[in-house]
Amino acid sequence: MQKQFAHTTLELIQGDITKAEVDAIVNAANEKLIGGGGVDGAIRRAGGDEVVKECNEIRARQGGCPTGTAVITTGGNLSAQHIIHTVGPIWQGGNAGEAALLASCYKESLQLAIENEVKSIAFPSISTGVYGYPTEKAATVALETIRGLAESNRTMPGLIQFVLFDDATFNCYSEALTAL
Ligand code: ADP
Repeated sequence: MQKQFAHTTLELIQGDITKAEVDAIVNAANEKLIGGGGVDGAIRRAGGDEVVKECNEIRARQGGCPTGTAVITTGGNLSAQHIIHTVGPIWQGGNAGEAALLASCYKESLQLAIENEVKSIAFPSISTGVYGYPTEKAATVALETIRGLAESNRTMPGLIQFVLFDDATFNCYSEALTAL
């Protein structure tokens, strides 16, 4: 399923983000940039030692990656040239600024993409696994944020994919994109 927003095609696919054939993939990381489970574990395993080394260098330099921000490393052994690591909010009921922090993950990741001349990028569903953000709500924040950016910034990547792992997540994003 896909929709066009200004110069950007937004596409939803179901699958494994480590296999995405794009310039950059986004990782749902944690603040310490130390390997976790879920999509983070899968991306680190597939990316290999060079990715882990660059994450360690960033941690040594700036202490990690605060929630709502993003950093960039090599893609290592991935087909993607870059990995953009962003840290989504942990769901605390919805009144702790979660939506603004989640929107900030998408904004900061896309800002890094633009700075690094990334023309195609793939996102997972940030915060909706271990971090517990309700998927319907996260999908709406993600897609509305990207639409707003695409419609106001002509330098956005031409292709933005969501690579969604399971049926339930894919269906939530499909419904949110249809409703947009
Ligand atoms: P968070 O800590 O931000 O909640 P998780 O990794 O726990 O991150 O989950 C985020 C989403 O990533 C979940 O929907 C999970 O099913 C999905 N996911 C896990 N592995 C992969 C993968 N290889 N490709 C794409 N998405 C994945």
